[in-house]
Amino acid sequence: MTQSLPGQHAAYERAFGGRGGLPVVVVGAGPYGLSVVAHLRAAGVPVRIFGEVMGSWRHAMATGMFLKSTPDATDLSAPEPGGRLSDFRRLHGESELTELTPIPCDVFVRYGQWFQKRYVGDVEPARVARVDRGPSAPGFVVGLDDGRQLTAAAVVVATGLNGLAYIPKELLRLAPEGAGAGALVSHTSHHSDLSRYAGQRIAVIGGGQSALESAALLHEAEAHVQVLVRERSVRWGSVPQPNRPWPQRLARPASPLGTGWTLAAVCRAPGGVRRLPAAARLLLFRRALGPSGGWWLRDRVEGVVPVRTSCRVTRAEASGSTARLELTGPGGSERLAATGYRLGIDALAFLAPALRRGVVRVPGSKAPQLTSTFETSVPGLYVTGSLAAPMFGPMMRFVAGTEYAAARVARDAARWVVAP
Ligand SMILES: Cc1cc2nc3c(=O)[nH]c(=O)nc-3n(C[C@H](O)[C@H](O)[C@H](O)COP(=O)(O)OP(=O)(O)OC[C@H]3O[C@@H](n4cnc5c(N)ncnc54)[C@H](O)[C@@H]3O)c2cc1C
Repeated sequence: MTQSLPGQHAAYERAFGGRGGLPVVVVGAGPYGLSVVAHLRAAGVPVRIFGEVMGSWRHAMATGMFLKSTPDATDLSAPEPGGRLSDFRRLHGESELTELTPIPCDVFVRYGQWFQKRYVGDVEPARVARVDRGPSAPGFVVGLDDGRQLTAAAVVVATGLNGLAYIPKELLRLAPEGAGAGALVSHTSHHSDLSRYAGQRIAVIGGGQSALESAALLHEAEAHVQVLVRERSVRWGSVPQPNRPWPQRLARPASPLGTGWTLAAVCRAPGGVRRLPAAARLLLFRRALGPSGGWWLRDRVEGVVPVRTSCRVTRAEASGSTARLELTGPGGSERLAATGYRLGIDALAFLAPALRRGVVRVPGSKAPQLTSTFETSVPGLYVTGSLAAPMFGPMMRFVAGTEYAAARVARDAARWVVAP
């Protein structure tokens, strides 16, 4: 079964007929995959896209979540005007969102689904289980989880943070069978419904948006929740000021990721970030946007949910259906949820080991080294989204980065498609 708009699909088929050749395969149908395909299809390039449309936003985010980003930083990249979140809202008779209106997750999912119908057409829901080099390079063999196999001229990896969830090893001891929603330790990405923890004692470990919003949702679902934060204090975003006077705008210019000169510069010039020395880029990657909570979340956490700062989990032990945590400070006996991601290409199990080995890494990291068009050192293999952030800066961790990435990836990937 495919998810498509029939009339549009027919138009794409007509366009593809002219080009022929092996398709570009895009793995993942989130904001980056959909945006890349929108540009490829507009150019009449044969392409197949696999995955569930907006799958992460439907299954790896808890019900009731809001986006941290503002409406004008949440557009997918369309090949023509008319595909912005504000266009979607207007066409559906929905009120305009402002900087002061947090976007509910389900609005963003509906926007992504609308974008897919309007600009993408067919999305095949199968998961990609294997990508390997084809019999003659360049070219790839792509294996699907339903057993089918196809060949591709180029492959674009747009799988977001899937497979990259990180749980510190001292916590993993709590779940020898594997972390997950039913286990003693889980990652926030394992949950779409936190109400399962009603009445239970939960420690949330982390001080970023995911941790703080999960804590608020757990508290509102009547769990007894405590947040354990490594840093000395929790950072909160500042309330947006839509009409700031010009001296303030000059002192702290606005950008899709917040205010300030550093953020404005890295958002304006991801290509410039790529040309920085690797060490400077990694520093930027780690420091430019530290963990913080959205301004609109503050009232739901501060003074409401107990937050312990300057505390690390040094040891964790299972004791029946609870976890005993040793902290830097007095511990407790609790079930818990942990958070965080580690960006590395080795976690992409669907890439054949030989292919992964062929991907040159950013020095000092496990993320792929990328050309200015997001191509790895394996010709025809592209990587977008969060995994591109150590090259192009923090913008790639967010939907706002699709505007820079999608057209570039599409233009370059198209050159591998040659008419038969
Ligand atoms: C809790 C949370 C909140 C966030 N809030 C924001 C926010 O407010 N604003 C913002 O800009 N960003 C936010 N982000 C970051 C967000 O993940 C990205 O901005 C955005 O989703 C990136 O899009 P993507 O297409 O790269 O990845 P995703 O949206 O994760 O899409 C990847 C897709 O690939 C699919 N997939 C994975 N593996 C395979 C496979 N083998 N075969 C087929 N399909 C596969 C997945 O199912 C998924 O649909 C948030 C992230 C988290 C975890």
